[in-house]
Amino acid sequence: MSDGHIADLVGEVRSLVADPPPLLVGGEPVAGLAAAQTLDPSTGTPLTTFPVADESTVDAAVRAAVAAQPAWHALGVPGRRELLAALGEAVRAQRHQLAMLDAMDGGNPYPAMLADIERCLHQFVTWPAVAGMTGGDTVPIDPRDLHFTEHQPYGVVARIVAYNHPAYFAIKAMLPPLVMGNTVVLKPADQTPLSALRLAEIARDILPPGVFTVVSGGAATGSALVRHPAVRRIGFTGSVSTGLAIQRAAAESSVKHVSLELGGKNAMIVFPDAPVEAVAAAVVAGMNLDSCGGQSCGSTSRVFVHERIHDEVVEAVAARLARVVPGVAYAEGTVMGPLVSAAHRDRVAGYVEAGEREGARRVVGGEVTGLPPGFYHAPVLFDRVEQSMRIANEEIFGPVIAMLRWSDLDTALAQANAVPYGLTGAIWTNDLAQAMYATRALHTGYVWVNDVSRHYWGMPFGGVKDSGLGREECVDELRSYTEVKAVNLRTRW
Ligand code: NAD
Repeated sequence: MSDGHIADLVGEVRSLVADPPPLLVGGEPVAGLAAAQTLDPSTGTPLTTFPVADESTVDAAVRAAVAAQPAWHALGVPGRRELLAALGEAVRAQRHQLAMLDAMDGGNPYPAMLADIERCLHQFVTWPAVAGMTGGDTVPIDPRDLHFTEHQPYGVVARIVAYNHPAYFAIKAMLPPLVMGNTVVLKPADQTPLSALRLAEIARDILPPGVFTVVSGGAATGSALVRHPAVRRIGFTGSVSTGLAIQRAAAESSVKHVSLELGGKNAMIVFPDAPVEAVAAAVVAGMNLDSCGGQSCGSTSRVFVHERIHDEVVEAVAARLARVVPGVAYAEGTVMGPLVSAAHRDRVAGYVEAGEREGARRVVGGEVTGLPPGFYHAPVLFDRVEQSMRIANEEIFGPVIAMLRWSDLDTALAQANAVPYGLTGAIWTNDLAQAMYATRALHTGYVWVNDVSRHYWGMPFGGVKDSGLGREECVDELRSYTEVKAVNLRTRW
């Protein structure tokens, strides 16, 4: 990637957002909406404004989705596959611009945002292929009759997503419900609405009006969507507190099915036989600093290391972390961007202060200098962390690693489980029996053994305890956007 290419893209995106993006309902721009500002986290300056969907706009979006759904469903998988494949090609053609929109809107490095989009492009064709093989069952109750099940779409599905992977989340959220014959109204995060709004513009030329609508805005927009009586299914990615608010709002409006991908405080448990350098590389990789500055639900931010190799691991992680210096998200060679907002940067800084106040030792992580006045925070490594400290228990959602020392495995596993979250975990050892024992003991929805962070499309991703409800990235996710209808067909009377 050359400097010239990046500079051209930055210029292209600046001129694109010089006109604030439209909010399209039924393929037409909605006039007269209030506007909110979105900032460039690399500079802390305004990037552009975007429309905020009020309750009547959300209602119009849902009504357009209701109107479009029967014809969309009637296309069948082959018809939907053709249109979604065409959309995938259009997204592929626009991927550089979408990735730069995310880098400038959300602060994650441009190459990481491009990699995000490129890794989900296949889903425009693979999800329809999987859907075509995902049927109901015939149930052999009475051989003279036919007992079978059909998977029916809900109708309109609302998807509400977080800010850390904006275009990727929009694509990954829209496809499973669409493929199964639902229409979708998606609300991107208020900090990063631009790539989803652009995606809706791209889709306008390909999908029938009302099939995919993006309503930008904040909590009020999301709440109006959740409460809408015609929305029967909600898929949410975000914090635990918002997930709970969504469950409450959904329950107060009508009977809705809700799936939740929520936060994590994920543990990595390192056994004494694990190779120190490989572990150190994994501790850094597990934080997802390069893709989103540690603002990742799956980050392994608590690292329990056996006392025999603890000090060596701390030293090796410190050496690697010191090289991860934040920079402008769209500058050549940036290895980590700023955080999404000043408020979030201050929140992370507050946790660092709390860690020091409570007695942990900051091994790495100081002032960030020589950059524009954006929302930068250097990665921080804390040693001598005790289980009682806030940095060992609360989701920071930023570049802060807490190292804990263990000598008794069951105590370490109990500490790993002693948080309300249960999203991911990682075990590092070559001892298969120990690995399986620890894997089974971890109360999480996902476990890596001798790995971190990587997602494998096809493997169910999701949390237990307060980390969520439901599984994504797998066949179960497709099915979860349908309801089962049981049919008993009497073949005689
Ligand atoms: P958030 O909960 O503040 O916001 C998420 C989305 O919900 C945004 O679009 C926001 O506008 C919307 N929203 C806020 N209040 C709402 C309301 N009352 N009704 C409806 N919608 C509302 O989360 P965030 O700060 O954007 O993201 C960070 C959190 O998301 C972290 O906790 C992180 O762990 C979690 N997350 C989880 C996953 C996962 O796959 N499990 C992935 C990414 C992020």
